[in-house]
Amino acid sequence: MNLQNITADKLVGLYKNRDLTATEVITSLYEDIERTDKDVHAFLSICRERALEEARRLDARIASGEPLEPLAGVPVAIKDNMTIRDMTTTCGSRILENYVPPYTATAVERLRSAGAIVVGKTNCDEFAMGSSTENSGFFVTRNPHNLDRVPGGSSGGSAASVASGTSVIALGSDTGGSVRTPASFCGVVGIKPTYGRISRYGLVAFASSLDQIGPIAKSVRECAQALEVISGFDHFDSTSADISVPEFVKDLDRPIKGIRIGVPKEYFVAGLDAEVRAKTEAGMRIYEDLGCTLHEISLPHTEYAIATYYLIATAEASSNLARYDGVRYGLRVDNSSLQDMYRRTRHSGFGQEVKRRILLGTYALSAGYYDEYYLKALKVRTLILRDFQKAFEQVDIILTPTSPTVAFKIGEKTGDPLSMYLSDIFTITQPLAGIPAISVPCGKNSENLPIGLQLMGNHFEEALLLSVAHHFEKAGGFTV
Ligand code: GLN
Repeated sequence: MNLQNITADKLVGLYKNRDLTATEVITSLYEDIERTDKDVHAFLSICRERALEEARRLDARIASGEPLEPLAGVPVAIKDNMTIRDMTTTCGSRILENYVPPYTATAVERLRSAGAIVVGKTNCDEFAMGSSTENSGFFVTRNPHNLDRVPGGSSGGSAASVASGTSVIALGSDTGGSVRTPASFCGVVGIKPTYGRISRYGLVAFASSLDQIGPIAKSVRECAQALEVISGFDHFDSTSADISVPEFVKDLDRPIKGIRIGVPKEYFVAGLDAEVRAKTEAGMRIYEDLGCTLHEISLPHTEYAIATYYLIATAEASSNLARYDGVRYGLRVDNSSLQDMYRRTRHSGFGQEVKRRILLGTYALSAGYYDEYYLKALKVRTLILRDFQKAFEQVDIILTPTSPTVAFKIGEKTGDPLSMYLSDIFTITQPLAGIPAISVPCGKNSENLPIGLQLMGNHFEEALLLSVAHHFEKAGGFTV
């Protein structure tokens, strides 16, 4: 059985009709992992015994005719920067190689309560810092569509697992594109919700004012199902929003005729790959055919986004990562003095990119530079937010490419951090503004590599965003 063509709904239907047992599905899924993951390397760890145990329990409940939860027996994969009690959480870092947290992230807990079965933890760039999953402290994940290409990052393992059928839904985290870029490179759907929509409890902090968990799946519908389950206030995270969670799934088919779609001119500039541009424009035509109207808009501060993001994200990271000192978590390289122990632990535990960011962030926050860099970045962040607020007075949704290119070659950008940072150009303004954004497949290029279309909505407008994406997927024939 190949899960590549099976959606969560279909799977639950097969269980209900007794056409398949969860035990059969989970058993065959681990055979698939064994077969394909030696090439793709999506997983950092798996939990076969526990998953099989949960599957057997579910089968017994099905046999006794108990009602099923919405995601009963649906195999899910979790990015390894979210905690699960009694399973290692490495964040793709050697410094946490053996760290076993005593608690489970709220989002994971909620997926489980909805019946999902966790099958493993997925590879990512170290502490989610990267756009290609090449910064993992363990190994590189490869793109299932072409093993010489990156899967995108930093949630590359999650997207690659969904695309290769070794999970049906996966969780990623998105600070500056880390759910949407891998979704676009791997030909699947990924949504970064509004900041505060999902609890960050148990998500290891990279840049706390930007980080947000998001689901990745083969269809918008499955993303909506997962989002509905994991959203909502959590008293363990004071930044989670105390507002009601709409019924995203029920809302998917709402009519979208007359929806105003904004196309920002700043996103169609030099550096945008010609085939990506062509597919994005074809996507606009699909919306016109669906009765939506297109409007050119302007987001004038887009050109400052990369600089702003890489100041704020590194500043917050330098502070968040100070806790990995060899005393409380993970790795400790013992030495004669305390100073030496700190130094050696951090020297050998962190990879190059993480060290670079700690240095950049510490610099931006240091006396004399704080006003010049960090404070200025905060001000530009407000201007970027205002760009969106103005735009959403004129339009309901904003449409852009997800990434300026398709998946690049492994190794192509590792020697040049700036070119890696620049590849994030379309996915960093939304976390800076806190708004939701989704990447949906919109075709492939001449080399058969997937291209993603990005849609953004106003704060807490995920229901509209998902339905607009769902109609696109159906009309364009991009369904599973
Ligand atoms: N590529 C961006 C970075 O390296 C975004 C990462 C993310 O969203 N976690 O910071």
